[in-house]
Amino acid sequence: MTITSDAVVVGGGVMGTSILYNLALNGMTRSILLEKNIIGSGSTGRSSGVLRTHYSTEICTKLSQLSYPYFVNWDEMVGGGNVSFVKTGYMVIGDENSLNGMTQNISIQNSLGINSKLLSTSEARELIPSFNFKDSEIAAWEPEAGHADPSGTALAYSARARELGAQVLLESPVTEINIQNGRVNSISTASEKYETSVAIIATGPWSTKIFKNIGLEIPVEATRHQVFLLRNSGNEIPSYPAAADLVNLTYFKPEGANLTLIGNGNIESKVDPDTYNQKTDMGYVEDIWTRVVKRIPSMADTELYTGYAGLYTSTPDLHPIIDKVPGIDGLFICTGFSGHGFKMSPVVGLCMTELILNGYSSTLDLHPLRITRFEEGDLNGNSYDFKVIA
Ligand SMILES: Cc1cc2nc3c(=O)[nH]c(=O)nc-3n(C[C@H](O)[C@H](O)[C@H](O)COP(=O)(O)OP(=O)(O)OC[C@H]3O[C@@H](n4cnc5c(N)ncnc54)[C@H](O)[C@@H]3O)c2cc1C
Repeated sequence: MTITSDAVVVGGGVMGTSILYNLALNGMTRSILLEKNIIGSGSTGRSSGVLRTHYSTEICTKLSQLSYPYFVNWDEMVGGGNVSFVKTGYMVIGDENSLNGMTQNISIQNSLGINSKLLSTSEARELIPSFNFKDSEIAAWEPEAGHADPSGTALAYSARARELGAQVLLESPVTEINIQNGRVNSISTASEKYETSVAIIATGPWSTKIFKNIGLEIPVEATRHQVFLLRNSGNEIPSYPAAADLVNLTYFKPEGANLTLIGNGNIESKVDPDTYNQKTDMGYVEDIWTRVVKRIPSMADTELYTGYAGLYTSTPDLHPIIDKVPGIDGLFICTGFSGHGFKMSPVVGLCMTELILNGYSSTLDLHPLRITRFEEGDLNGNSYDFKVIA
């Protein structure tokens, strides 16, 4: 059977669902999302959900800054479900090695009107007494930051898109993107053909595979990242913010009533998204737990609750690709969000919709995220060695 649609979005993570919602909101109500599994079954369902704006480039700072109000005011701005926003504040802890990067990132934030500042050791100690700071350490502090529920966000987008008339089809792996005379013609699954002139590929870690099927190489890798949760022995609510610790190479955030989610965010090796090891290694847990205790001594008294591994989708400069695919009319790419896409998803969906409808995004200039930057050698910068703080 052949079905005709305004646009077909491939991938039901937080990007695909945000794009579908924004398309439907802007009149493309006959749009369809095809997801090979269930909503949030890729990186989105394993995301730590941290929302912060501390970045080394203006584009990432803006994507996060402009998305933040959606999470805080979800019911009024989107609706369709609960995204469980919690304000915790976010601290980046470093020493003299990260001072320049931190100062530069804070000045980007401040130039955009974001409340963020550098704290001396004594100010940091006073603000968060449960953290252990050496005299040489400093901190960047962003009080409005927090976290939200990535799966809940994708599900809410999906629900709202369907209310607006769009369709979400689960367990529908796309097998072929059909291109005729240099333009998108249709998209196929094993049982159906969807005629469309607009296809958006938002397949996260599977993006390399899907582009390979149409003969295109994209500089994107799926890498495995482990996180685990420690449970406080009592039922007390953790009274510390989310943080990236550049000295001990960890990040953590309070989770629910008595848990702490912990990871380290560094680049791990490339894996196959269909066969990677989804469990945590005990050696990893021991190593990272020991490092976290250096920062929060009370973490020595916690117990291991659970752990798992998920996938980052990384480009060489750890910035996403949000663009039209050159040479193929109607084909759009939205991938490569590394360990920080969730917090950007509301504005990514909006910008992608503007790009599709108008040929450019009026909300944000997407030039730094164009696909051709890799062959042009014009990569985005990063001020830390510890590259991917959640
Ligand atoms: C451990 C971990 C912690 C993270 N922590 C944070 C954080 O604290 N803050 C933050 O902002 N970001 C974080 N991230 C990053 C964030 O989760 C991702 O950037 C974001 O979820 C990417 O969403 P996506 O929609 O691009 O990809 P995905 O969620 O992977 O969605 C892609 C979807 O495409 C589907 N698909 C693939 N191939 C096909 C096909 N052929 N046909 C149909 N469907 C297909 C997949 O099944 C999948 O559902 C973290 C990620 C991980 C793994």
